Formats: sequence, C-alpha cells, structure tokens
Amino acid sequence: SRVLDNAGSDDERVVEAALRPRRLAEFPGQPRVRDQLDLVLQAAKGRGAAPDHILLSGPPGLGKTTLAMIVAAELERPIRVTSGPAIQHAGDLAAVLSSLDEGEVLFLDEIHRMARAAEEMLYLAMEDFRVDVIVGKGPGATAIPLELPPFTVVGATTRDGLLPAPLRDRFGFTGRLDFYDPADLALILRRSASLLGVEIDHDAVVEIAGRSRGTPRIANRLLRRVRDWAQIHGDGRIDHAAAAAALELFDVDPVGLDRLDRAVLEALCRKYAGGPVGITTLAVAVGEEPDTVETVAEPYLVRQGFLERTPRGRLARPAAWAHLGLTPPASSTA
Ligand code: ADP
Repeated sequence: SRVLDNAGSDDERVVEAALRPRRLAEFPGQPRVRDQLDLVLQAAKGRGAAPDHILLSGPPGLGKTTLAMIVAAELERPIRVTSGPAIQHAGDLAAVLSSLDEGEVLFLDEIHRMARAAEEMLYLAMEDFRVDVIVGKGPGATAIPLELPPFTVVGATTRDGLLPAPLRDRFGFTGRLDFYDPADLALILRRSASLLGVEIDHDAVVEIAGRSRGTPRIANRLLRRVRDWAQIHGDGRIDHAAAAAALELFDVDPVGLDRLDRAVLEALCRKYAGGPVGITTLAVAVGEEPDTVETVAEPYLVRQGFLERTPRGRLARPAAWAHLGLTPPASSTA
C-alpha cells in the first residue's frame, strides 16, 4: 500500500524535488491562489519591498512546499526551510531568525506544530522584525532586543483551524489549496512524464489522473509505478493497458481512494453501521492518530461525497455504501 501512503521516502523526496515547477507560470492548477500570489508578489517587487507574510493551507501533497519555493524564486531571494516540529524551543527559532538575510524567505512547514514559546517570538518577529533575546536566568534575566532585517514568512499548514488567532492574523495573505481536477492532474502528469523521459498516451494520462485522489504527489507517484510496469512488461511506453494493469497490481481503487481512505469507510460502515461516530473512536478503529484521519483522509472523502462531518460525529453517505458494495441498514439516516 506504500504506493498511496502520504509520507514519502528519502528517494521520493529527491524525485519530487526534480518534478517541482519552479515558477508561478509553470504551476498548473489552483488558478485562484496562483492569481492572488501573482498579484501579491508583483506588487511587492514593484515597491522593492518584502511582501506580506504568506500562509498556505490545505491537505498534504497539493503543492504548499512547491509554492513556497516559487515565492522565493519569483522574488529572486534565497529561501530558508524549516518546520514546526523542528522548532521545539524559542531558542531554535531565535537562531534561525537572527541569521536571516534581508528579504529572505523563511518557509515554516507544519507551522501549527511549533512550540508555544516559539510562536510568541514569531509574532513579534513577523510584526516588528525584532526578537527579544533573553540573557541570564531567574530574576536577573534581561531581554535584549535584536533588530532583524525585513523578511517574509511563508507558513504551510494542513490545519489552519489549529493556528492561534494572533498567529493567523499576522499573515497578510492566506492561500487555500484545494484538490486538483482531473484536467489539471493530466497537465501535471504530462509534464512529469516529459521530465522523466517517458512516453505516455492520452488514455493512460486520463486513467492515472482519475485515480490520483486530486493530489499531484499521488499522481507523480502512480506515474512512477506505471513507468516501472511498462519498463518490465512492455517497451517502456505507457499506454492505457499498461496504466490499468499497473494500477490494478498496486491496488489503486478505481476512484483513487487509498488504504487509509478505504479503512475509514470500512470501519464507519461495517463497525459503526454508518455512524454517527466520533473522530477519536473512528481513528482508533483504523489504528491512526485522529489528526491523520482528519487532515489526510477526511478532506477527500468529504469532497467526494463519501463522508459527512456532523456535530454528532462522522456519517457515511450513500456513496460510501455503494462504493463498498454494501447495503445501508434500514434505520440508517445516510
Ligand atoms: P505539500 O507541501 O502541499 O505537501 P508539495 O509542494 O511537496 O506538497 O508537492 C508534492 C509534490 O507534488 C511535489 O514534489 C511536486 O512534484 C508535485 N506538485 C505539487 N503541486 C504541483 C503542481 N501544481 N504542478 C506540478 N507538480 C506539483
């Protein structure tokens, strides 16, 4: 099931980096976010100033990191990359902030997972371009203000609802990324195939795009597995038959649901008769953290009409029963 899991291996990160679009004009999909970003960046460049801080939110694999790199490229500035989980103490953040160059882009991935104490330091740095460095301990400790050059934070989060309001308010612009439609995924697949030097026909592109869960990272991953199949079983060219055979071999659901998506639907329908069931209970049933179920699986299931979030808990929609080939219980509200 690796083929659909969301966390990538090191090898995958290398390939992913090679497949990232470098400029806004080469970035397919997300037309709204792209236009908004284009405006923000062009205006800032025109003024010769660092743009407002930018927050990017949305499920994993939709292009937040890619867009952060693009922001730096469009501004022709260097980028410093770190993430919330890497910042466990205010000191970790102080070290990063105090070494930024003027106009540098600071990419903070998973910003909602940063330590509380660091968050407060970040507010001040984002607003006043200053950090207070605490020297000494106990009653004799003093705060020495340190001026920072102007810089731009690009924050990424899968959960903008979890960001404390004061932090959210310090971003002048929030771009919300949504799942890609099949036409955009097809563009991405063609571009990736050409970068990987593989020939792929129209029907194969359509087949893979339709099974990629609206997610470029998954589209690229499936493309690489189909490429493997075509290399071993054919002449390396990818046609519809190769795509269909490879996707079947790797157990990719006809609508692109992955292992976790299916496990959630199965548990919801088989164990809890379609719900409503609380997120924590559901997560335990599939052996995952509630946060993973909420950020990785649910957004796509909701978007595809398989699952509904209600105040009483998660509810299976009729499409979920149909997809699993099950009959909803007579008393089901779904
Ligand atoms: P996120 O940070 O949101 O998890 P990434 O920016 O790391 O997602 O994107 C995952 C992979 O998907 C990237 O390596 C890139 O190759 C690909 N990708 C994402 N968005 C696009 C896009 N719009 N066009 C082409 N490839 C994309």
